[in-house]
Amino acid sequence: MTTTPRAPSARPRRPQLNLTVRSREQLSPSMVRVVLGIDEPERYEDIAPPEKYVKLVFPRPGTEHARAGHPGAVPGPDHGRNPDYWALRETLPGGQQPVTRHLTIRRHVPERHELWMDFVLHGDEGFAGPWAARAEPGDRIIALGPGGTWVPSPDAAWTLVAADDAAIPAALAVLESLPASARGAVLLEVDSPRDVQPVSAPAGMAVRWVFREEGGPGEVPALVRAVHEAGWPAGPEGVQVFAHGEREAMKALREELFTHRRLEREQVSLSGYWARGRTEDVFQAEKKLPVGRIL
Ligand SMILES: Cc1cc2nc3c(=O)[nH]c(=O)nc-3n(C[C@H](O)[C@H](O)[C@H](O)COP(=O)(O)OP(=O)(O)OC[C@H]3O[C@@H](n4cnc5c(N)ncnc54)[C@H](O)[C@@H]3O)c2cc1C
Repeated sequence: MTTTPRAPSARPRRPQLNLTVRSREQLSPSMVRVVLGIDEPERYEDIAPPEKYVKLVFPRPGTEHARAGHPGAVPGPDHGRNPDYWALRETLPGGQQPVTRHLTIRRHVPERHELWMDFVLHGDEGFAGPWAARAEPGDRIIALGPGGTWVPSPDAAWTLVAADDAAIPAALAVLESLPASARGAVLLEVDSPRDVQPVSAPAGMAVRWVFREEGGPGEVPALVRAVHEAGWPAGPEGVQVFAHGEREAMKALREELFTHRRLEREQVSLSGYWARGRTEDVFQAEKKLPVGRIL
């Protein structure tokens, strides 16, 4: 275990947002929406990309930070002032630093100073999923952000949006940002038909849900098969792709997109959001290794 505090990072610091849960809604058996009020709305700096994310901050179990009941640790409205995340990062030893988890801002509602976040319920392991499953009005949590980079071109001739459940909030936000004239395909992978949600997309974007429970030939993820079968145009000109989801599935798409469909890197946003059997800490650390590289 590391015992020295981390050196200050040269990266720009994302603003700290102190958030308070307003409501929780079950969207499907595998997904829950948590609506969060922004305590100091003047600290929220919006950005252009429709796929925006924050890092949610959770105290590491067993630390003083967790025992003090800082936001994210225990439910309830009144657990004292939120700590300053960046001060904690610079002062706490590595083994006591808070844990962070990426979550998409499904929607920002400026007039209500509100953020919506949709969480995959993937069992009792981890921080973000279990926290969301139990979130109650009044619970507080710290977020850092927002960040995000990919802005879809409104002039694309054909757009593919492909996502598994963790990336569905981002995919739906992207769809809402496309012009009404957009044409293309939307492929959304979930466990079963029970996990389907309403989708609002331009009329020319054909929406297809694909189900993991239906299995299929070999080990190829349902989303990867669906991308192969999408009604692609004859050539790569004017095509743009947003494909985000489980790391190995995204790696499996490289050949389809860059070899078979002859797309250039600039036409594609291909991103791993999580990796099966890895916590986010391991997943992020592995990005520096060959196993973790998508592009
Ligand atoms: C930019 C970005 C945006 C994201 N947006 C969202 C979002 O809006 N909603 C969302 O739910 N996730 C989103 N994710 C993915 C999310 O950050 C990870 O799934 C994260 O691992 C969840 O943290 P956790 O604490 O719940 O589980 P962890 O502690 O990280 O993992 C515990 C265990 O659960 C498994 N696990 C983690 N996620 C999943 C999953 N989706 N399905 C099945 N098993 C899983 C892990 O492999 C591990 O075995 C996003 C990721 C990125 C990079």
